[in-house]
Amino acid sequence: MALRFYNTLSQQMEEFTPARDNTVRMYSCGPTVYDFAHIGNFRTFTFVDILRKWLRASGFQLNHVMNVTDVDDKIIRNAVAQHKGLNEYTAVYTKAFLDDCATLRLERPEKLVPATEHIDDMAAAIEKLTAANHTYTSDGSVYFRIASFPGYGKLSHNDFSGNIAGARVDVDEYEKADARDFALWKAPKEGEPFWPTSMGPGRPGWHIECSVMAIKYLDETLDIHLGGVDLIFPHHENEIAQSESLTGKPFSRFWLHAEFLMVEGQKMSKSLGNYFTLRDLLARGYAAEAIRYLLASAPYRKQLNFTFDGLKSAATAIDRLRNFKLRLETDRFPAGANLELAARTAGATQAFHAGMNEDLNTAEALAAIFEYIRDVNSAMDSGAFRAGDVPAALELLKLFDSVFDVLQPSGGSAGLPDAEVEALIAERTAAKKARDFARADRIRGQLLEQGIILEDTKSGIRWKRK
Ligand code: AMP
Ligand code: ZN
Repeated sequence: MALRFYNTLSQQMEEFTPARDNTVRMYSCGPTVYDFAHIGNFRTFTFVDILRKWLRASGFQLNHVMNVTDVDDKIIRNAVAQHKGLNEYTAVYTKAFLDDCATLRLERPEKLVPATEHIDDMAAAIEKLTAANHTYTSDGSVYFRIASFPGYGKLSHNDFSGNIAGARVDVDEYEKADARDFALWKAPKEGEPFWPTSMGPGRPGWHIECSVMAIKYLDETLDIHLGGVDLIFPHHENEIAQSESLTGKPFSRFWLHAEFLMVEGQKMSKSLGNYFTLRDLLARGYAAEAIRYLLASAPYRKQLNFTFDGLKSAATAIDRLRNFKLRLETDRFPAGANLELAARTAGATQAFHAGMNEDLNTAEALAAIFEYIRDVNSAMDSGAFRAGDVPAALELLKLFDSVFDVLQPSGGSAGLPDAEVEALIAERTAAKKARDFARADRIRGQLLEQGIILEDTKSGIRWKRK
């Protein structure tokens, strides 16, 4: 079962393996830290996390770089308005972003790189592009001349051969020779921060930071480049133009793009005001795992409509998964093993792999798990499920959770409800009465794992949370 991804560059499904030494070199465009990220942004970052975890489950090592855009027009505008220094302003939102990622169980990339710590690298790259005739200067700003890069448009599959002069395809407010040209370097403006460099004072444009940091920390050719679909054009197209003009090599072998999180038919976005931050949803009492599950449950190339009903269903799905795990761990099953169930578990494991391998089709992978749970629950009810079938079933849940990561409740001990603790204690007492001490010990260990401590007293069992 080969791992395949839809490559935006080739517009085809392609089999994926890293170019060398079993390590996936990948780059994802990070946040612009001017405000709290919303859960639309986190849909894309959750997709990146699911990809990371599936690549690891597939036996690859990861070298993943993500930038933090800590200088841009919005950041400067807000910092100036609040009379704050740039770093002072962005530090707050960088921390908020990292805290939110941790809450959503998004792994840190191997390297997280702030743009402002790489200004000299960017200046050097721009000078190299200038030496190779890819740029021009206007009013102290340096622009990339799109006409100097014949491959422009190959990622977005836009045809730029027609006359598009005058069409505004970029947000830069500076003078340009061609509407497609974009600023590599922006001249200092009154009251705005700037950096002195060998090229003169100014600040970098957004696009150059990704090219420079990806090449610096990964390679001239990446295995995978990631982002949301809104970055395909112009951002990623511009990254390709810069990078390939610098190195003469293909910038990335694979390009994967996540579709939008929508709200009532529109993209969730700051500018439309139709957004929720992670903190908004936590304050309304939704668990981080439910939000993570919701964002991960739809295949990344499909738009996902955000609703509170969807969030509630996600919470219910997690309950089913956790209850199933609890049942596997605490029920008493007849001795022996059932060959049919062994085959059922193997089949579900294979279906989970098949779903994830087919361009991370999380919906198919989840369907495989839930069909399995339904079948096994009825096998448990009828007595067909045997004690010997438990380890393989737990193994499948472990595989599931190595990617989806929702089984462990947030906040440690607070996660296991009192009623569940009491039920487990009652089971342990029954096990002791039946002189099944091994089982009693297992339950005690399981409770301990959840942060619950048992004390045997004269008047019975007392328990407390760690
Ligand atoms: P930004 O901080 O604005 O640069 O965006 C960070 C990431 O979030 C980018 O990869 C965007 O493509 C992505 N993004 C923004 N809005 C949405 C949305 N509604 N759904 C999914 N991804 C989004
Ligand atoms: Zn980027």
